[in-house]
Amino acid sequence: MEGCLFCGIVAGDVESDVVHATERTIAFRDVDPQAPTHVLVVPRDHYASAAALAAGDPQASAELVTTAAAVAAAEGHDDYRLVFNTGAGAGQTVFHTHLHLLAGRSMTWPPG
Ligand code: 5GP
Ligand code: ZN
Repeated sequence: MEGCLFCGIVAGDVESDVVHATERTIAFRDVDPQAPTHVLVVPRDHYASAAALAAGDPQASAELVTTAAAVAAAEGHDDYRLVFNTGAGAGQTVFHTHLHLLAGRSMTWPPG
């Protein structure tokens, strides 16, 4: 999708630190990490939200989670948090859905 930052990363037009790639997803480090491991897992195709992705491409939706788990394991984390911010009011700033993988520190609940 034109003008989408994460479509630019998927296409390789925008630089990123890619840590894992599958047929339907890529995973790259967040530019402003909130934990020692903070990786974003995105579908290669543009979907605005996690729900739209799950409805349109259930396999890719599942692959986001299995990719995040693979990255957590590769970085030595048994415990991790997965987050989909959905909508500006919930903190979503990039409207190409992405799963945050956060790990490597203790987490508090509820999140801010
Ligand atoms: P959201 O706020 O939409 O849930 O998450 C967007 C995330 O993308 C933020 O954590 C932000 O730090 C990250 N981000 C924004 N711009 C870039 C970028 O150019 N490269 C990378 N790797 N991450 C980015
Ligand atoms: Zn996009």
